Amino acid sequence: MALIVHKYGGTSMGSTERIRSVAQRVAKWVRAGHQLVVVPSAMSGETNRLLGLAKDLMPDPQLASTPAALRELDALAATGEQVSVGLLALALQAQGVAAVSYGGWQVPIRTDSAFTKARISAIDDTRVRADLAAGKVVIVTGFQGIDPEGNVTTLGRGGSDTSAVAVAAAMKADECLIYTDVDGVYTTDPRIVPEARRLSTISFEEMLEMASLGSKVLQIRSVEFAGKYRVPLRVLSSFTPWDIPIEEEASSGTLITFEEDEKMEQAVVAGIAFNRDEAKISVIGVPDKPGIAFQIIGPVADANIDIDVIIQNVSHSGRTDFSFTVHRNDYARTLEVLKTKVLPATGAAEVLGDAKICKVSIVGIGMRSHVGVASKMFRTLSDEGINIQMITTSEIKTSVVIDEKYMELAVRALHKAFDLDQETAAV
Ligand code: ADP
Ligand code: ASP
Ligand code: MG
Repeated sequence: MALIVHKYGGTSMGSTERIRSVAQRVAKWVRAGHQLVVVPSAMSGETNRLLGLAKDLMPDPQLASTPAALRELDALAATGEQVSVGLLALALQAQGVAAVSYGGWQVPIRTDSAFTKARISAIDDTRVRADLAAGKVVIVTGFQGIDPEGNVTTLGRGGSDTSAVAVAAAMKADECLIYTDVDGVYTTDPRIVPEARRLSTISFEEMLEMASLGSKVLQIRSVEFAGKYRVPLRVLSSFTPWDIPIEEEASSGTLITFEEDEKMEQAVVAGIAFNRDEAKISVIGVPDKPGIAFQIIGPVADANIDIDVIIQNVSHSGRTDFSFTVHRNDYARTLEVLKTKVLPATGAAEVLGDAKICKVSIVGIGMRSHVGVASKMFRTLSDEGINIQMITTSEIKTSVVIDEKYMELAVRALHKAFDLDQETAAV
């Protein structure tokens, strides 16, 4: 008997028919003698629908980002998962399987108070363990938690992955299975590149980079949790027939591995990630003197806005240009902060913004030991006539910021250039 955590995403929970199929699958695992904790997301589209209603009533992004408004947004968005757990518990009971559902606040899954992007601080598993011991399937809402003041919080978009891995870590589960609408982690999003290949394994470090660079198949914090607590983690499809043999199901999809891969034919580039959620901001004509980066970035950070890629140009006649990217949701607020606070304080000439950019990244631990990977990336983009606006690199990734309209072209060209559609990818 093993303790297994299953997570089902929005599409997997998208209709009562889909929920029945999830219940049949879970029941199969229970009948095979396992203890199951199930963490579902809201039904597909539901979180967007709820947040859309909120936007109708609160269109001003400044007002919608006050702590008071963020609190309400979380209380609202968390209801999507509340519906899912109730329906799934009923569907299991209808199969003759004892099941009980809990909201994150009932478990409780404790978080900090950073509404809309709360971090899990602790999970009390007493209640869940008692139910499991009593032979029940325990269904816990994804995405939500409770802060020290008793407010409902959410973990950021895609946060149900994190709930599931955190529950698995807290309970020392034997495995956490992330069921979704694709059958594993691919070399890139198969919706953009049909030739993308499923990876049977991916290293934890590569998965961490892919997630942080925009591959939405796993939320980044779920990968961080898996790494920190060594949670055996697998991504697999919920769209296989529910009654396929458990052994077949348990070895399908993509396993996140923690060991250094010893394969000789290790692909240099494991995958390509992209992110269209960013916007670029340039502060033009900044006096080039010590402390200027802090004077620009400080007020932005004080407004709780995360900054991603940063570049500063060489200066001409004592002035320079400074560019960085932020999440597109923070674009208007960032421009506002720069215009009202930074321009007057620094004497910079102007602030320009471009929300129509995207970031495309190549990721692979093989990049550590191979030279020429970045230059091949740049040559490929140049051959396609794509202008690179910003570049950032780390040991195992190279990212470029380009015009959003070239995103798909860039991803396809890079996928081909690095032979990711082939069984053994080349340098
Ligand atoms: P869920 O609702 O199950 O959490 P998501 O939509 O959040 O599902 O994540 C699954 C989606 O991630 C896939 O449908 C796919 O389009 C996208 N995706 C992006 N990059 C990748 C990748 N490298 N491999 C697999 N899927 C990817
Ligand atoms: N329902 C939430 C969202 O749409 C959480 C999740 O699906 O993981 O972001
Ligand atoms: Mg998701």
